[in-house]
Amino acid sequence: MKFGTKAIHGGLEPDSATGAIMTPIYQTSTYVQDGIGNHKGYEYSRTGNPTRNALESNLAAIENGKYGACFGSGMAAIDCVIKMLNPGDEVISTNDLYGGSYRIFTTIFAKYGIKFHFVDMLDLQNITDAVNENTKLIWVETPTNPMMNIIDIIAVSKIAKDAGAMLGVDNTFATPYLQNPLDQGADIVMHSVTKYLGGHSDVVMGALICKDEKLSEEMYRIQNSCGAVTAPMDSFLVLRGIKTLHIRVQRHCENGEKIAHWLKDHPKVDKVYWPGFENHTNHDVAKRQMRGFGGMISFTLKGNRIEDARDIVKNTHLFALAESLGGVESLIGHPATMTHASIPKEEREKSGVVDSLIRLSVGIEDIDDLITDLETAMS
Ligand SMILES: *Cc1c(COP(=O)(O)O)cnc(C)c1O
Repeated sequence: MKFGTKAIHGGLEPDSATGAIMTPIYQTSTYVQDGIGNHKGYEYSRTGNPTRNALESNLAAIENGKYGACFGSGMAAIDCVIKMLNPGDEVISTNDLYGGSYRIFTTIFAKYGIKFHFVDMLDLQNITDAVNENTKLIWVETPTNPMMNIIDIIAVSKIAKDAGAMLGVDNTFATPYLQNPLDQGADIVMHSVTKYLGGHSDVVMGALICKDEKLSEEMYRIQNSCGAVTAPMDSFLVLRGIKTLHIRVQRHCENGEKIAHWLKDHPKVDKVYWPGFENHTNHDVAKRQMRGFGGMISFTLKGNRIEDARDIVKNTHLFALAESLGGVESLIGHPATMTHASIPKEEREKSGVVDSLIRLSVGIEDIDDLITDLETAMS
């Protein structure tokens, strides 16, 4: 099955009770049993719910995995991955990382005796140098947020294999339509479903997908034990969202490409970070491991003044000033004071998150209106 078909049908069956073609919202906490231990596969909705399970199967299908697990947020999904580790274990992570991931690693799990190394993965030697006998997980984000750095998943998976460590990839920015890390050697894929998969800015959710049965047992054990599950109604909304993922992301990519080129020619713009440019670092890797370059773009302003960035993000109308990304509507953000405010200034500037950096999540509105909006705000 090709992607567009999997997005609509993958892992899904008509409802067995009624034949309903759309998975019903099973808004129930428990299930009646005929006799002790004699149930229809469901006992309690933390452990399993038909609407959530349908979404989990669909996610496994579109990520070319076997097992999916949904959580109350992307952070709850990451929480589950780190809970697979033990005190004394070490994690090597991308340095240019989603702010919330940096925060859960350094302020929650560090105190349970798990050690985190943040390295620039553009230079693979940095990963090899950080490996030791305690390395149990390598955590990759690609493209990274907000610098759009492209990390070579196949190359990192070889390092992980040699180290006997698990490779986890946060695939939120790329989406399964553009990139499938499990096919490139990753052991587990994470999504903030909140973003492109939901796609309509109306749900907060996370997901993990893997292929290995033993790993899935651990994943489901933690999901059920810790209980950060997602609700039936939200699962239904995301099932509906995924049915158009392929056509939405196609348009995100088309609009993104046009805006990236427009920005590059703008007199007030200094640098534009978008993996589709031939001179973008690791553009060749992006071309190999992704099927398109997406609608996420960051750029800096000449003079690097925070006031100039503030003026622009305040003056766009279609590009709404908000955190998050991946919805049908365009968003604009200022990473240094918004998504990356929890990362110390020195640390964030090292990875390129300077004061004038602006991030766009290009939506699927008409491209002419989007460019007019940016033009007006920047003049
Ligand atoms: C938003 C995001 C997360 C966190 O997901 P939530 O659903 O907000 O908890 C993790 N990683 C990336 C790359 C994100 O963009």
